[in-house]
Amino acid sequence: MIKKMNPYCAKVLGDLSLDVLVFFDLKNIRYCTGFTGSDGVYALSQTKDWFLCDSRYREQARLQVAASELICYQSKFDSVVELLRSSGFSRVGFEADRVSISQLQEVTQRSSGQLTWVPVTDEIRSLRGVKTSSEIALLQRAADLNAEAFSQIVGLIKPGVSEEKIALELEFALRRLGGEDRAFDFIVASGSRGALPHGVASERPIESGELVTIDFGTRVAGYHSDETVTIGVGEVPNDLRQIFDVVLEAHDLAITHARPGVVLADLDAIARQYIEKAGYGDYFGHGLGHGVGLDIHEYPTVSGRCKDKLEQGMVITIEPGIYLPDRGGVRIEDTIVITTNGCRTLTSIPKKYRALN
Ligand code: ZN
Ligand code: ZN
Repeated sequence: MIKKMNPYCAKVLGDLSLDVLVFFDLKNIRYCTGFTGSDGVYALSQTKDWFLCDSRYREQARLQVAASELICYQSKFDSVVELLRSSGFSRVGFEADRVSISQLQEVTQRSSGQLTWVPVTDEIRSLRGVKTSSEIALLQRAADLNAEAFSQIVGLIKPGVSEEKIALELEFALRRLGGEDRAFDFIVASGSRGALPHGVASERPIESGELVTIDFGTRVAGYHSDETVTIGVGEVPNDLRQIFDVVLEAHDLAITHARPGVVLADLDAIARQYIEKAGYGDYFGHGLGHGVGLDIHEYPTVSGRCKDKLEQGMVITIEPGIYLPDRGGVRIEDTIVITTNGCRTLTSIPKKYRALN
């Protein structure tokens, strides 16, 4: 018997008439079972579930995973196929977004035509989209670490200090405060480098009269924080001050409109149209945001392509930006959780314009 059936997985099994759903993606496995190791497979049917791992993880799995059966394998794909065949299954769903072509070949070759591997895409993509209250609490703690770490290093942001120094001190601060690891390579982009939306910190020293964009985050129990601040250093030229105001307004507008039922593409459009009307549409090339959880980027995408609707419990970022080539850029990012009739911001570093000297 399954100790705790995930209703979402039960629905996918039923809707696609699958005998069993097999997970290879470690984040999905962690989500379903609590397993934090770096290799394993999870399979579940309507009545039973199995966790498979090699001997390195046997003890860890015994402690972390509450599956009806734990299987220790020598050869992963042999063991998975053997389990499915001996259980009499035929239709096997797998995460099409997460399984490589070679992995699929490995399992189909061993299946000898007895198992039909059914790619599952949209149906499983939103598995982790709506967060539980305990997941939201972890995301909140990760966001709180961002605020605390930033307050510890903000005094460093001044002329002559390199972008790398700021990134490194932020990382130290987050680790000292209990963050697990950096969520991604921190972006510290000053001056003209601010025009690079993904300008990973370089040796460049900050100069007076520039904007500095800092995008960073950490993890708590696997759950990420993600936040971007743009700060002025000294007297910043008017054109850059102006794009700051446009981005902040677009960011605030999107947050005001985020609530259950809103189509994600429409939320993107609210911020995008504001930036377009201000004349900077060509300089905002990326989507408005993304889901955050066990992965730094996960379902849902907040972009013109996503026709799904916001639901209570979804956690997404709102991160409009304007990037002027050779001039500089601004991005402002908060992570929000959708509530019953609106949203709450998890990240808390003040986003209003401030200039440091
Ligand atoms: Zn970010
Ligand atoms: Zn982000």
